[in-house]
Amino acid sequence: MTAFDPSTLLNPVIKSLSAYKPVEPLDSLSAELGFRVEDLVKLDANENPYGPPRSVLEALASYDWYHIYPDSAQTRLRERLAALHGVPESMIAVGSGSDELLNNLSQMFLLPGDRILDMPPTFLMYSSNARLYGSEVVEVPRRPDYSLDVEAVATAVLDGQAGDGGPVKIVYAATPNNPTGTWLTDDECERLLDLPALVVLDEAYVEFADEPSRIARVAEHDNLVVLRTFSKAVGMAGLRLGWGVFPDWLMEQFWKFKQPYNVNQAALVAGLTGLEHWSEVQMVVDRIRAGQRRLWTGLAGISFLDPVPSAANFVLCRVEGRPALEVRDGLRRQGILVRYYDTPLLSGCIRISVGREDQIDRVLTALQEME
Ligand SMILES: *Cc1c(COP(=O)(O)O)cnc(C)c1O
Repeated sequence: MTAFDPSTLLNPVIKSLSAYKPVEPLDSLSAELGFRVEDLVKLDANENPYGPPRSVLEALASYDWYHIYPDSAQTRLRERLAALHGVPESMIAVGSGSDELLNNLSQMFLLPGDRILDMPPTFLMYSSNARLYGSEVVEVPRRPDYSLDVEAVATAVLDGQAGDGGPVKIVYAATPNNPTGTWLTDDECERLLDLPALVVLDEAYVEFADEPSRIARVAEHDNLVVLRTFSKAVGMAGLRLGWGVFPDWLMEQFWKFKQPYNVNQAALVAGLTGLEHWSEVQMVVDRIRAGQRRLWTGLAGISFLDPVPSAANFVLCRVEGRPALEVRDGLRRQGILVRYYDTPLLSGCIRISVGREDQIDRVLTALQEME
């Protein structure tokens, strides 16, 4: 034993954090619930049930250079993204999932005492990252229909800028929002961009929406960052690949900041191949969009569920007349996993991701049997 307690050396901010509740891995769920992994209906994490195009798996298997470090500038991937999406490659940042880019942005901007603003219910990563760096979180809850209260957001940012607390440096808006599926309108977006803060639009689900991405807007607004990912539409959540469009001044700083080998070679091979086969990705996205409409209509027909309109590959439902936990547990016993919430703003809600056609049938049948 050492003569002193080395845990006293730890950053006190880390000590004060609560532990992240990990998602249970498939094999342990399979053992616990008594279903084979392939018979589990996993609709709890908005994953793409079809996975990436077959050619991605083939490219991963036949790549010969895994013993060489990956390109730290991710040049080819950024060129392909630029060509496909019509944004300059100089403005494209790549990360090990968009989660890494979210974390990078927090590290690049936030000091203890600073503040960020988010609009719950939303993705928890924004607030948990901020707390990790000792920053405070200003929460401006969404309206009952989950639209933004932009007036309240503007007031909170402007008052924060004038008040004695730290400034509100970053405003986070997911669009479509997770877990509600709500789209940020152009008016709301403009209002946010007028604020004296960095606006991070998280477009993890934008491929499933009717409206286009706002990546092209970054060139016109030097306080806008838009984040995208291969996890959802391209079905590569397990490979960890995300990207973002950053204004030029921020890219210059990002290159100094980023870890050189943050994106591994397997993710790069897979991402490049996915982009080469974009029409296949698009077919899967269309299938999921059709599945979403069918799931939503089916859920609306269940007497104890009130599904929220969604622009994404998941549907949030209010459970009426019985505990949401009971519905979650009932589905779970049948090997069907959905997301349940015990936070105040989402109490009585479950979120169901769009699965394959047969999985949509299974969840709808199971819910009908609970009527
Ligand atoms: C799934 C998700 C992401 C994507 O994270 P990755 O790290 O790219 O897998 C980002 N934001 C939101 C809101 C999400 O739901």
